[in-house]
Amino acid sequence: MEIVEINLSEQMKREIERRGLSDELLALMKEDFSDPDVQAFLEENKEELPRKNIIRGHAKVHEFVTEKENFKNNSSKIAKGYYPKLIARNNHIDLTYVPTEETKEYQKEKAIQSRIHSFHMPKDIARISLSDLEYTSEREVIIEKAYEFIENYIKNPHAFHEGMYLYGSFGIGKTYLMGAMVYELAKLGYESVLVHFPTFAVDMKQAIGDNSVGDKVDAVKNTEILILDDIGADSMSSWIRDDILGVILQYRMQNEKATFFTSNFSMKELERHLSITQRGEEEPLKAKRIMERVRFLSEEVYMEGPNRRY
Ligand code: ADP
Ligand code: MG
Repeated sequence: MEIVEINLSEQMKREIERRGLSDELLALMKEDFSDPDVQAFLEENKEELPRKNIIRGHAKVHEFVTEKENFKNNSSKIAKGYYPKLIARNNHIDLTYVPTEETKEYQKEKAIQSRIHSFHMPKDIARISLSDLEYTSEREVIIEKAYEFIENYIKNPHAFHEGMYLYGSFGIGKTYLMGAMVYELAKLGYESVLVHFPTFAVDMKQAIGDNSVGDKVDAVKNTEILILDDIGADSMSSWIRDDILGVILQYRMQNEKATFFTSNFSMKELERHLSITQRGEEEPLKAKRIMERVRFLSEEVYMEGPNRRY
């Protein structure tokens, strides 16, 4: 450390004479170069940095010292969440900005969330992963099935993998569990789409007006992993049933794409629900066709437990 400082001062004097540097600049240089982090950096890189390049690097060193202080005071103007770091590059002093652990964590979470696409789902859906779910006896089997799906899926994402048709009463955590599965998949780099189907259906009716039905249906049907949430929660028009739901499911079946459902109804109850139109007409064959696709795509799994809504 000593050596660097003494030699630097000599070098500085000569530079000052040569360049006619002002007293202010000289004082600033002395101050910046005597910063302990700067000293440690110079000591560490003394092989790589010729003396003249140390003086030439003063602007970088000054920025380093200034930004280091700003970082400490949480008033960084250059890059919030990053701290400055001196580096030796091609025999010159350079400055780089390194993300803090917090920033890295934030960026990681942002990348995970960017793989989860949700339509009309609660804001805080998919914030925790399967491994963070508490294991209750009634849930254990379902969590295991979700893990099994993930394992098989990541081994071969292009093969067909049966999803789950998760049903049970209101408020027991069906949607939450699907969110956790999707989060786990997103951590591994896979994208999913979660759709609250009853709201999506309302959206579709409005989409007729601006001719965007096709695009919206495409966005949902093409995704690699699809969760249709709360299927059967309200009465469906035959148009929604046949031309929206039917089309999505037909496509997913033909293209063997992973599809999950949550519902308050068992498959049998859903079939009954779908067979009666909003107008009260019975259309059992239409309902059967939908259910064939649902059964092809997913395994019916019953979930029980206490209502967690309050
Ligand atoms: P469902 O889809 O079965 O109607 P939800 O998944 O919406 O139920 O869960 C109902 C409420 O309980 C939600 O507010 C959710 O955040 C909470 N919840 C569900 N499962 C859990 C869990 N395993 N741990 C903590 N909270 C949960
Ligand atoms: Mg739900």
